[in-house]
Amino acid sequence: MKKPQAPSDIAREAFMRLVDRHLAPTPTNYQSCYNEIAGLPNYPPFPEAPLRELAGDLVARNQTQEEALDALSAAIGQRSWQGVREALALFAGSGAPAESVLPAELALGLARFIDCMLPALGDEDGRVIALAGELGAMLRQPSPAAAAVQGGIARLAQQVGQAAEEQIEIKGALLKLLHLIVENIGELSIDDSWLRGQIDGLLASIAPPLDLRHLDEMERRLRDVIEKQARAKARTVEAQAEMRQMLGEFVGSLAAMSASSAAFEGQLISTAERVEQVEHIDELRPLLSEMVSAAHAMADDAASSRNQLKSLQDKVAATEAELIQLHKELDNASALARHDPLTDALNRKGLDEVLVREIASMRRKATALSLSLLDIDNFKKLNDSFGHEAGDGALVHLANVVRAHLRPSDTLARYGGEEFVILMPDTSVAQGVEVMTRLQRELTKAIYLAGSERILITFSAGVAQLASDEESGTDALRRADQAMYLAKRAGKNRVMSA
Ligand code: GH3
Ligand code: MG
Ligand code: MG
Repeated sequence: MKKPQAPSDIAREAFMRLVDRHLAPTPTNYQSCYNEIAGLPNYPPFPEAPLRELAGDLVARNQTQEEALDALSAAIGQRSWQGVREALALFAGSGAPAESVLPAELALGLARFIDCMLPALGDEDGRVIALAGELGAMLRQPSPAAAAVQGGIARLAQQVGQAAEEQIEIKGALLKLLHLIVENIGELSIDDSWLRGQIDGLLASIAPPLDLRHLDEMERRLRDVIEKQARAKARTVEAQAEMRQMLGEFVGSLAAMSASSAAFEGQLISTAERVEQVEHIDELRPLLSEMVSAAHAMADDAASSRNQLKSLQDKVAATEAELIQLHKELDNASALARHDPLTDALNRKGLDEVLVREIASMRRKATALSLSLLDIDNFKKLNDSFGHEAGDGALVHLANVVRAHLRPSDTLARYGGEEFVILMPDTSVAQGVEVMTRLQRELTKAIYLAGSERILITFSAGVAQLASDEESGTDALRRADQAMYLAKRAGKNRVMSA
């Protein structure tokens, strides 16, 4: 074994080696040769500056990491690789656990959900839009961090909650306002029955819960009425102008007539004076012929005034008839507000009005009045098996069959989804049950075709006759409803009296 050399020998030998190897005499090369000869590990020189830079880039997230950074700084100062290694290990070991990321499909699904939800909240709330934009962008990045997404969702959820509450309040307040305005218009124009119809329809269609189909229908009707009203108004204004012009002409000709009669009177007086002075009969003839032609002119004037007056009267009558027709059309359009758009039967409001009328008439004339409430059997199953449209078609079919077999004085109304009321004046409860049983038979004969499907519609019904004393329509309907319920309980497709 080689005897360890003295440092001064090693130093000398290190110089020799530099020269032998033609190495530049730098401290690094000298150190490297020295270490080789001394048998020491030949580490590269300690990179203090880059290490300090690296330490400066590290950010402590907790107390331990702060301590690790202090230790790192000290180790760099002492040029201790061991110290650097330990400090870095401590720093890395005490960092946050590995972050979990959201599965790509879930992230994209969430992003799409946010896109769909956003329009429902309106665009007034800038904060919601900003937060949703941030979250959407985060979710569309590759491997979004679950914790960051969770934070984003929590912040957005809070804002959305507030925005949604606000939207609900705004909707409620707007509806209330609309109600108030509509009601007020109704109060102001109590005389215009066509307007009343529209107001009632509008009030019904803006009563919550809002139904798009109902609103659309109402809009269509209102447009119809507005158009008819505009036509009626324009025609009224035109007719007034025509009337004014004709009256002007007539007054003018009356004035001319009175002027001509004044002239005639003057002529008469002067002729009379001249007659007094006549001495020979021959002088009378020219005076007489003057008188006759003046009288003719007077008669012509009077006849033409009479004709003018007559044509004026005819014109007034024709215009009046035209305006009445226009207003009738308006009233008809307005009456639609009392009908169910699907089946064209009366709606609840229409039924209420007819009920009041029929009850008053029944009491006045001391006759019988019965009403029946019918409910289609297993209608839910029909909808489920053949679709909602087939269900709608079945309602229309039933209404048509019933209408075809009722007397003109009877009234059909749609009471609810698949429930109808039939009002039967001059009908006792026993006769009412007969009518309903007959309708059941007719319905079995007129089978309902939904596409190629033949569907048998049956119903259960209850019939009640209004008590002649003070029973209200509502009470009688309640009794009919109870009887209908009993008919259902007893196995459906039957009629019971209350
Ligand atoms: P029951 O014989 O006991 O009367 O049973 P049902 O299925 O007829 O009665 P239920 O009250 O359970 O269901 C009524 C169904 O009528 C539920 C509803 O979806 C449906 N419906 C209500 N209005 C309409 C409508 O305008 N069109 C359609 N297609 N279906 C309607
Ligand atoms: Mg029902
Ligand atoms: Mg039913």
